[in-house]
Amino acid sequence: KAVTDHIHDLGLESHVIPGKNRAAIGITGNKGALSPDEFSGLPGVVKCVSVTKPYKLISREVKADDTIINVDGALIGGKHSTIIAGPCSVETEDRVMEIAEILAKMGIQFFRGGAYKPRTSPYSFQGLGKDGLQLLRKVRENYGLRTVSEVLEPDAAELAAEHVDILQIGTRNMYNYPLLKKVGELGKPVLLKRGLSATLEEFLFAAEYIVSNGNFDVILCERGIRTFSDYARNTFDINVIPVIRQISHLPIIADPSHACGDRRHVLPLARAAVAAGANGLVVEVHQDPETAYSDGAQSLYPMQLQQLLNDVEVIRGLDSDPVN
Ligand code: PEP
Ligand code: MN
Repeated sequence: KAVTDHIHDLGLESHVIPGKNRAAIGITGNKGALSPDEFSGLPGVVKCVSVTKPYKLISREVKADDTIINVDGALIGGKHSTIIAGPCSVETEDRVMEIAEILAKMGIQFFRGGAYKPRTSPYSFQGLGKDGLQLLRKVRENYGLRTVSEVLEPDAAELAAEHVDILQIGTRNMYNYPLLKKVGELGKPVLLKRGLSATLEEFLFAAEYIVSNGNFDVILCERGIRTFSDYARNTFDINVIPVIRQISHLPIIADPSHACGDRRHVLPLARAAVAAGANGLVVEVHQDPETAYSDGAQSLYPMQLQQLLNDVEVIRGLDSDPVN
């Protein structure tokens, strides 16, 4: 309290980041460097660190320990390996309940499904909207699955936050700063996907937007970027995973489905991402991918997901965490 009061007296902003053994307090709003002497004498202050990175609050300089996000008892980050699975879109009630039941029986804890779909073509299925959110709420009630769904606009984010457990910011909206600020204020965990052409720094700044608005529960997601390489839907930047694990305390998961666009290649990429230190995966799964309303070609059959879960367990057994 004394530290945050002093920060405010200086006309600056404080960001209290709780940790396992000690809290970190980030300071932003300063124009130039602050002298550590300003704070080092205050009671309870162990250490003052000048953060050298341009993105402050998400960096390990501010908080060395991995951020662990607790979503209704299911944990994301650190040594936990989180699998988020489900169809690209919430389609019909029967179909969404059927796949949710299959996934719950497989031990999946997080269910994904888009109610609002940002589609390249205006003629493609745009999602069920509010009805889709209500179906996701029903998925949670019926199967105890935590739900993840995309939000497209700041004005619709509040409604989505009432219905789902994690708000997804899609690749197209990673640069949508009003939306990032909004989900920062809402305080619901956020799954932030890397922009199609985002550099590492732009990606991390997008996360900093959310965190600096008060929400530390951010999960980063590498989902493939656009490069000159044209044989797959995108280019999976596995390299970014260990780099982010090193720079940031936030969890980084990977989406091999959107990275390659082809279910035949999802498993090897998923294994590679976990081997590279990803804190989990988001994968599209459908009981009948041939008739899926969106992204059927990259959606796994449930049996393939079972194989993926088995493989992930084996790789995690290697205990080759890149950070430690
Ligand atoms: C999705 O998750 O279905 C999606 C649209 O993802 P992205 O924003 O990564 O394309
Ligand atoms: Mn999709």
